[in-house]
Amino acid sequence: MKRTVAIIKPDAVYDGLWESIRSRYIEAGLEVVEEIHLTLTDEEARDFYAPHSTKRFFGGLVLSMSFRPCVALLLKHPTKDAVEVVRALNGAYTANPSDYPKGTIRGDFRGAGGPFNRVHGSESAEEAVREWEVVLAHLAHKEKLKTKGYSVSYRPEYCPRGTTGIWVP
Ligand code: GDP
Repeated sequence: MKRTVAIIKPDAVYDGLWESIRSRYIEAGLEVVEEIHLTLTDEEARDFYAPHSTKRFFGGLVLSMSFRPCVALLLKHPTKDAVEVVRALNGAYTANPSDYPKGTIRGDFRGAGGPFNRVHGSESAEEAVREWEVVLAHLAHKEKLKTKGYSVSYRPEYCPRGTTGIWVP
């Protein structure tokens, strides 16, 4: 069964919406294979959105996905294509947030414009595999630092562009 990745983006988590949004996926029959709460660094968000790296809105996308906690969900559906189910639930990207249809996550939990659109959904099952590797690489990196006795701060003011946070011994 093919899987997909949904990310409840930092602005939605910050606004206290992540549980309501996760419920939408579960009510639609999706099963949560794995749920990981994490804070992507600037560098990791760049990796995550690498297929969009040449687009003019790349910087905004990266910012919308980094520095604050997000909720990453690996999802599957028992009978349907999970990629399509999640993308339909999220609502296709529109430039003006008031154009997101009612009944979609982006329409019902309206955020700011552009990439600050509450959620991300993989474009294909292959993309989902790549995206989940970025999430797992983040965890592995953090684990390695912890075993070395470091703690990590992702506060934006400590993370100039291109850096991965401050490691405090
Ligand atoms: P998702 O792919 O629909 O889950 O949306 P994401 O928020 O992860 O962003 C990736 C996609 O959203 C891209 O394929 C773009 O179509 C679109 N997108 C996000 N932000 C912008 C923006 O500021 N301008 C434009 N033109 N497209 C954007």
